[in-house]
Amino acid sequence: QSQNTQVVAKGRKLNEYQLRRAEREREKNSKPAPEPENPIQSRLSAGDHVKFRKLDQSTGLIEEILPRQSELSRLDAGSTERKAIPQTLLANLDQVIIVLSVAQPEPHFAFLDRYLVICEAAQLRSIICLNKADLPHSSRVEEAADLYAKLDYPIVWSSAHTGQGIEDLRAILKDRTTLFTGPSGVGKSSLVNAIEPEMAIRTGMISEATGKGRHTTTGSQLYPLSSGGWLADSAGIRALAAWDVLPEDLPHCFVEFRPYLGECVFNDCNHIDEEGCAIIQAVEDDVIDKHRYRSYVRIYHGDER
Ligand code: GDP
Ligand code: ZN
Repeated sequence: QSQNTQVVAKGRKLNEYQLRRAEREREKNSKPAPEPENPIQSRLSAGDHVKFRKLDQSTGLIEEILPRQSELSRLDAGSTERKAIPQTLLANLDQVIIVLSVAQPEPHFAFLDRYLVICEAAQLRSIICLNKADLPHSSRVEEAADLYAKLDYPIVWSSAHTGQGIEDLRAILKDRTTLFTGPSGVGKSSLVNAIEPEMAIRTGMISEATGKGRHTTTGSQLYPLSSGGWLADSAGIRALAAWDVLPEDLPHCFVEFRPYLGECVFNDCNHIDEEGCAIIQAVEDDVIDKHRYRSYVRIYHGDER
């Protein structure tokens, strides 16, 4: 579709990713959101703190949504209605635990990078959980863990089978609102069961989060943890995509790029193939990991796999 689309901005041709962004920006600016019938209800999202007035024993009236500390939202790109307003999926989330397994299935670090980007863009703390630590795994996993630890992401090695790391996870969850996410089969449900046995029935929703073929994205629910804090199921989070991150924000979402971002020869450097790019130089100098840079390039080009 875009092969012969000649869109030029600031004297440069836009790539596929930028085209999509630009189109979405235009939609956002051109169509003012229709005034909803019930403005509070339509803006309400899981995790919101509200002011409400009790009417009688069993009913109340929400009068106000209190300002949000954080928002995890997405532009509704997949929908045919092409809703232009970003849809908040979860409000006031404190952190995201991204679960991968060290083996069975093999960890997919490109997936991890995408989720880290989403969390950085939403300014959410992210914790990397490497589950199934009881299984033999390749040294590649240890190397990757070292890499992410150097980038200051907390890492928990866990096993829902041996109980390793479960106490650490409980401590991380305590008194915070947390989203548990990750590919299916990595052991999210098993971990939640180990952390909070009473929650067993509800975790189906969590493991379904990344399941393909699920089309209803009606938002999430929060479940109270017995030791304080809330766990968000990710029923509505399946559709989170790194290309909801604005292109100008994307390089900042790679924490190790930040010190170099002012140093490229061109102010509007995309760090893809430009002359005098400080990021590319840092990759060549082995200061920035090449796998991380590859993830950047893939997200930049809108490759979500
Ligand atoms: P989910 O799709 O991420 O919720 O994953 P599940 O919790 O359903 O687990 C998928 C499979 O991995 C199940 O067969 C679990 O028994 C297994 N599993 C989960 N956690 C562990 C673990 O820590 N170690 C091992 N060896 N297997 C696990
Ligand atoms: Zn650059």
